[in-house]
Amino acid sequence: MYEFDCAKDMLGLCEKYELPISALMYRRELEGTEAGEEEIDGKMSRALEIMKHAAHSPIIQPKKSMNGLLGGEAQKLDALYQTGKAPCGDLVSRGITYAMAVLEVNASMGLIVAAPTAGSAGIVPGTLLALQEIYGLSDDALLSGLYNAGAIGYLAMRNATVAGAVGGCQAEVGVASAMAASAMTELMGGTPRMCAAAASTVLQNMLGLVCDPVGGFVEYPCQNRNAAGVANAMVASELALAGIPQLIPLDEMMDAMYKVGKRIPPELRETALGGCATTPSACASCQGGCAGN
Ligand code: SF4
Repeated sequence: MYEFDCAKDMLGLCEKYELPISALMYRRELEGTEAGEEEIDGKMSRALEIMKHAAHSPIIQPKKSMNGLLGGEAQKLDALYQTGKAPCGDLVSRGITYAMAVLEVNASMGLIVAAPTAGSAGIVPGTLLALQEIYGLSDDALLSGLYNAGAIGYLAMRNATVAGAVGGCQAEVGVASAMAASAMTELMGGTPRMCAAAASTVLQNMLGLVCDPVGGFVEYPCQNRNAAGVANAMVASELALAGIPQLIPLDEMMDAMYKVGKRIPPELRETALGGCATTPSACASCQGGCAGN
């Protein structure tokens, strides 16, 4: 009854039952698993709790990453924000701070929620927690946002990929940003079609982004890209909320992203054999052990 396997069907069901994407996804979850409301609610609340902790704790206590490439970025961003001189404005500044914090936690082997992956885990919480802080959203609203984001992530996993090793960073950070853009659009009063348009916009804007982690570690440039992913999500959501239509439906963009991903050479799909990973400075940071030397 609530099952869907593409964005077109998802939007059709939203219109048929007059539901936002979040509510449709919730009902799909109830229908498709043996878990009851209590269990599903409990798991999603726990996910939000983990996201909050990962987004806030490095601001107070910076985390040094396992491979030494990250640590302290979230605290620096927070310090700039507290001066009142952060140029990106409140929403983006808070979002990028929280996104980078989550990557600090991930890179220091802390607890995060893969949304959809560990390398892109900062974007959904960064976006949602910034919205909560700036617009006073409730935790219940954020939980709805997570169901909405989950629907987009589910479609990407089902019909394309969320693995950098398969489709490049566009599939990780790109999909995470699409999830965040869709969730933000719903939370700010947008229709399901606006949510899908926002997700499509993100995939267009991040199409072709390669996966090239320095030293092969999910640290750098991954953390920077999580910050950029938050900004990308917010831009796409604002376009959608303004009622700007998108030529390319989400299903077609997922398909295009997947096809582009498969054509990205192996050197640029999480092998650390190209891109940022083989720049002289990256190789120097790996003390001569990287593939570029
Ligand atoms: S560069 Fe690769 S490992 Fe890093 S976030 Fe992007 S897809 Fe993940």
